[in-house]
Amino acid sequence: MHTKLTTAYFTMEIGIDARMPTYAGGLGILAADIMRSCADLRVNAACVTIGWRHGYLAQHIRADGTQEYEQFAWKKEEFLKKLPQTVTVEVEGRTVTIGCWLYTVQSGDHSVPVYFLDTDLEGNDPADRGITGQLYGGDGAMRLRQEIVLGIGGVRMLRALGYRDIGTFHMNEGHAAFLTLELLRERDYKDDAVRASCAFTTHTPVKAGHDVFPYDLAHRIVGDMLPWHIRKIAGNDALSMTELALNMSRYTCGVSQIHGEVSRKMFPGHAVDSITNGVHHIYWACPEMQELFDRRASGWREDPAVLEMVSRSFDDEELWNAHMAAKQRLIDEVNRQTGKQFSAQCLTIASARRVVPYKRPELLYTNLERLKEVCSGSVQIIHAGNAHPSDPYSQEVIQRMVQRGKELEGSVQIAYLENYNPDLARILVAGTDVWLNTPMRLHEASGTSGMKACLNGVLNLSSLDGWWAEAYGRDPEAGWRIGPLVKAIDDPEEHRKVDAEDLYTQMQYEVVHEYYYSERRRWIRRMKRAIGLMGYFSSQRCVQEYCRKAWNV
Ligand SMILES: *Cc1c(COP(=O)(O)O)cnc(C)c1O
Repeated sequence: MHTKLTTAYFTMEIGIDARMPTYAGGLGILAADIMRSCADLRVNAACVTIGWRHGYLAQHIRADGTQEYEQFAWKKEEFLKKLPQTVTVEVEGRTVTIGCWLYTVQSGDHSVPVYFLDTDLEGNDPADRGITGQLYGGDGAMRLRQEIVLGIGGVRMLRALGYRDIGTFHMNEGHAAFLTLELLRERDYKDDAVRASCAFTTHTPVKAGHDVFPYDLAHRIVGDMLPWHIRKIAGNDALSMTELALNMSRYTCGVSQIHGEVSRKMFPGHAVDSITNGVHHIYWACPEMQELFDRRASGWREDPAVLEMVSRSFDDEELWNAHMAAKQRLIDEVNRQTGKQFSAQCLTIASARRVVPYKRPELLYTNLERLKEVCSGSVQIIHAGNAHPSDPYSQEVIQRMVQRGKELEGSVQIAYLENYNPDLARILVAGTDVWLNTPMRLHEASGTSGMKACLNGVLNLSSLDGWWAEAYGRDPEAGWRIGPLVKAIDDPEEHRKVDAEDLYTQMQYEVVHEYYYSERRRWIRRMKRAIGLMGYFSSQRCVQEYCRKAWNV
């Protein structure tokens, strides 16, 4: 075993296997792709996270669109190896013991360990056994307990595992910022000594998304681990995990160029760079595309940038056939799940994501008459996405979307698939013709699902935000934009109207027109260019950038 690490990557969630509910959404999926690429690139990395009993929930959608969310039980021992090491942390004056489970990300002969921390141990107070129970569950006090386990417990666990020399402690979002408190203790409370070995990625372009705790609560739960100068490093009025991470890191980045700009405005006085997210090129390519790439883009597994160089020389028919095989798999899944009769000959538009207001899931339904005019008989639409059980707003959105599907039944086929998870995502991003994403501008930090679509030759139709603003700038032929090129409109309602109108226009005069009334090779040419974007939007390029800018390798 190595005792030296280039980076210890701390993350509250990781979606490394759809059967392990240790994630909630994009943040966890990204962490998994970054670890996969670290393994490919032989980076000496380790991931520290929490072995949640319950994270992502299984979703069932009833015929009327209402939903059930169910925790699904999983047995850690079926996926993970229990390690003998334990460490302790103080929580509200009680001593809590933390155990550790190992998952190994293997690539060739290089591996990256993922350490899952766990407080569900015999000796712990029953209340403390639940600290690693529910990802993002509970109140502020519970969140503080969880963040103590991740940050302070995580550093102690790495030490117990024998890691002495760790180049960079990486905080994937502010949740992990308490790791700096343990490093301060290790290093005689010298801020500079801690800052020299920490880096931070912020993911949240809206203020409300950042963890902030009142100091009386923080003192009660965290106790003596809060240093005397905590108000200086974590905010004067309340303890902000983001402030703490920003102040204790030598390097901070956002996750796309636009998000970097937004973050610099949000955190004046801090240097915030950007490293645009990426997706793992092998994990997210469907089997047919993998075979095609193996034949026509040799070396792409080691270096996805090969795809940028050769995708334009792919054979049209081969590429189309690979796409149609993936499409048939998706259509079969839709028909099996919904009993509908979707057809592989019909232009298919899919849109799947966590249901939150800024992603504007209902933008497509702004004007039903226009939608019918554009789509009747020529477009079929697939949705998927989970809401949170304690979020009635998002549950109602899903219910309304299911009902829209019924109202439009005679003219436009619409399906809402249940239980969006990485396994379903893999079928969707490869099998649809067009990937639709409609975030409110400046609100989508990066987005990654559209990158997965590109890799499979699926064309994006998206607002110019996050990663798509960059991709569209690189190659406007690789898909379509929604909304004007000029900067965002300030009034959200006005912004929504303009974008909705543009969405129908783009669909009618570009997407539908090109699919049915142009020569197929025009569409296929766009597919090749979409695949070419994978030269840049892979997690491999992303990790290479992290190595250079954040991890000093
Ligand atoms: C890729 C992925 C996400 C993140 O996608 P966004 O584009 O950020 O919405 C979320 N959930 C699952 C299951 C995914 O595969």
